[in-house]
Amino acid sequence: MMAQYWAIKQANPDCLLFYRMGDFYEMFFEDAGVAAAALDITLTKRGQHQGEEVPMCGVPVHAAEAYLSRLIRQGFKVAICEQLEDPAEAKKRGSKSVVRRDVVRLVTPGTITEDELLDARRHNYLAALGEAAGSLGLAWVDISTGDFFAEETTAAGLPAALARLDPGELLLPDRLLQPGRLDQALAEWRERLSPLPGARFDSENARRRLESLFEVGALDAFGQFGRAELAAAGALVDYVELTQKGKLPRLAPPRRLARGETLEIDGATRRNLELTRSLSGERKGSLLATIDRTVTGAGARLLAQRLSAPLTDPAAIEGRLEAVGFLREEAALRGDLRDALRRCPDIERALSRLSLGRGGPRDLAAVRDGLAGAATLQRSLAALPSGAVPQRLAASAARLGGHDALVERLGRALAAELPLQARDGGFVARGFSAELDELKALRDESRRLIAGLQADYAADTGIQSLKIKHNNVLGYFIEVSAANAGRMPTGADSPYRQRQSLAGAVRFSTVELAELEQRIVSAGDKALALELRLFEELAAAVLERAAAVADTAAALAEIDVAAALAEIAAEQDWCRPAVEDSARFEVTGGRHPVVEAALKRGGDGPFVANDCRLLPDDRIWLLTGPNMAGKSTFLRQNALIALLAQAGSFVPAERAVIGTVDRLFSRVGAADDLARGRSTFMVEMVEAAAILNQAGPRSLVILDEIGRGTATFDGLSIAWACVEHLHEKNRCRALFATHYHELTSLAAKLPALSCHSMRVKEWQDQVIFLHEVAAGAADRSYGIHVAKLAGLPAAAVARAEEVLAVLEQGEQASALTRLADDLPLFAATAARAEKPGPKGPSTLDRRLAEINPDELTPRQALELLYELRRLA
Ligand code: ADP
Repeated sequence: MMAQYWAIKQANPDCLLFYRMGDFYEMFFEDAGVAAAALDITLTKRGQHQGEEVPMCGVPVHAAEAYLSRLIRQGFKVAICEQLEDPAEAKKRGSKSVVRRDVVRLVTPGTITEDELLDARRHNYLAALGEAAGSLGLAWVDISTGDFFAEETTAAGLPAALARLDPGELLLPDRLLQPGRLDQALAEWRERLSPLPGARFDSENARRRLESLFEVGALDAFGQFGRAELAAAGALVDYVELTQKGKLPRLAPPRRLARGETLEIDGATRRNLELTRSLSGERKGSLLATIDRTVTGAGARLLAQRLSAPLTDPAAIEGRLEAVGFLREEAALRGDLRDALRRCPDIERALSRLSLGRGGPRDLAAVRDGLAGAATLQRSLAALPSGAVPQRLAASAARLGGHDALVERLGRALAAELPLQARDGGFVARGFSAELDELKALRDESRRLIAGLQADYAADTGIQSLKIKHNNVLGYFIEVSAANAGRMPTGADSPYRQRQSLAGAVRFSTVELAELEQRIVSAGDKALALELRLFEELAAAVLERAAAVADTAAALAEIDVAAALAEIAAEQDWCRPAVEDSARFEVTGGRHPVVEAALKRGGDGPFVANDCRLLPDDRIWLLTGPNMAGKSTFLRQNALIALLAQAGSFVPAERAVIGTVDRLFSRVGAADDLARGRSTFMVEMVEAAAILNQAGPRSLVILDEIGRGTATFDGLSIAWACVEHLHEKNRCRALFATHYHELTSLAAKLPALSCHSMRVKEWQDQVIFLHEVAAGAADRSYGIHVAKLAGLPAAAVARAEEVLAVLEQGEQASALTRLADDLPLFAATAARAEKPGPKGPSTLDRRLAEINPDELTPRQALELLYELRRLA
């Protein structure tokens, strides 16, 4: 057995091997150690191998999915190795024969289809990066829905593309990870990379592979694919086939996305704007979570995708808005559609499991109910006067029907209660197959006869307490209590044969009982075999129409998204934006959807709506105002409004005219990127550099507190230069929030820049934030007031006020020199610095010198801090 284990393990070196033994998947050797730690399960030992004990751990087959999901989330790949024959078969070949086993599937983060392993409301993309003749191509597929895409990319554009897709797994030729290639650009995806030998990314092989897969003479029908895109797409298809051990799921023909078709948003901007995840990494608190009113998994996935990749073409955006606008007005229809949608199960994922041979009766039922729901929706929409329904919605509606025969057949075939797995049987409805009904009748009839026998035997023996029972070892048997056993006739001519005697009971059988049992077993076996055949037939019937069924599922998702966006628009009183091909950006009464929702939840008063008007001759707004006055909120809300509008949604405003944005950039807040060893200031500068290098005249840039992470004059100079660069070189629309009041003097010099500020009111020595954006620069920054509010000790606040007064009096640098002579706050430190220390380094110094911060875990770092404090 170990020889077999090693052979299989060696064929799958980068996977944990789930080796099937009876009711368990066992792991051995190194795998066992790794899995036991990752799953927090017991590590045991089993026998010896070359004189060493063999570490082992295992998970029960019936609970395997829960363990699998934990391993996949931690970035492991798992090879599932099954027993391919009954152990009894192996025994027949000889007592030493090992049961035949082989890997039936590789489970990797990008290739899972089980509901338990997937988030119903998010796409899980498997992506591949190809390279040919110096250009890069990306291809990606959601194997649980079959959606397949490709696009050209560049080394510079790659991070943004990956941030948009957020793939569960990224395949790439291993050479791209060599130092100096894409190792830096891919650093943050490290845990999701699957490097493969370069030979797997051959564009010519890929072309042939894809042409034969989609049965076309040339791929041009699907788009003009570059060689790098082909290489990626081909490697992807191969990988799916490899992991599914030859079974390829249904894949839609690849669609090529043209550059510029979608609004480009890099990873930092996505994170800053908290589009699909909040800064703390959760879904809750993100834009998506706040506005998502979809009622189906497929709808939620589509909405997430639309928010991740808004469009740039005003006509396409108008098409979406039209559908939303119509459903916004038709409240009753919207309610009906949403009710019907709520009853539609996830057809897409059921279909993919069926196509991989991994589906069960409930997947058939999901297809049945989903398609039946689609027909209901189609009827609701068809009942409207023709011409009333916007074109896009009508086009979706047209794709909902045509499945009546399949729905009817599945409806007749499936029983009311369905087991998870086909092999459990009992899922075919009565009346669907006469042959099956007959076998079941035979089985039930025999069961009834057995029940009748109990009365006969009791009368025959005179033992009233005699029972006929069943267990898996003996099958059916007669049981009497030990006290009554003596009364059982056991002579040669008696029909009763003793089978087993227990402490309190004795068990008998009869020929008659055995025969009936045989009939039950054989009818049951035949019934199950027949059910399995019927299952295959039904699954085949679904798969025959797979493309049409998937198309209906996609149409359902589109209607769900349109209705959900109409719902939030109605609920939150959003307006329909006018989207046009221009450089205007005019928002009247704009709001931040997430902050507004949070204020409402907390009962913290109303959100104050604000206008924003960026025009070709007034492109840059410089926004000043104290901390906490609402600058970041204002910046972000305008970025979100542009993004929502281009995704085809209504927007949280009274009125909005959005000239389409080609790229959206934001630099908001600052968080140390410890994972990549960059300081706050470095992160800030990297992001600012990206903006100044890439933003064009149709881009929208929001910059918050640039230069904050360094010394005042440094920061001010950097912020100053950034504003000038945006104005002169990038010539984009921009909102620039700053606490450097000095910058406001730029307004005199830069014609397309204007100053705005957050209004505050002073009242009884308190500062009240009005959260209103007003024209003109702020006169004070009120930082000290905020510090006071935050609980800075009164002495420190008083001193800060003194320092400020001096600073405000005169020229700053000399003022600072003057202040340095009189700095009580720093006096203590200065005194300590002058104190004659012991000769040579102190214990503390020595301990400090020993530390290598890169080797510390956060916990060790914390412990060390305590230790250092004791030494100080
Ligand atoms: P700043 O960037 O100026 O420091 P923020 O934008 O972070 O300020 O806003 C601070 C807080 O003020 C927010 O968390 C929110 O609670 C509140 N706030 C901001 N804008 C508004 C607004 N327009 N209406 C009501 N409350 C607001």
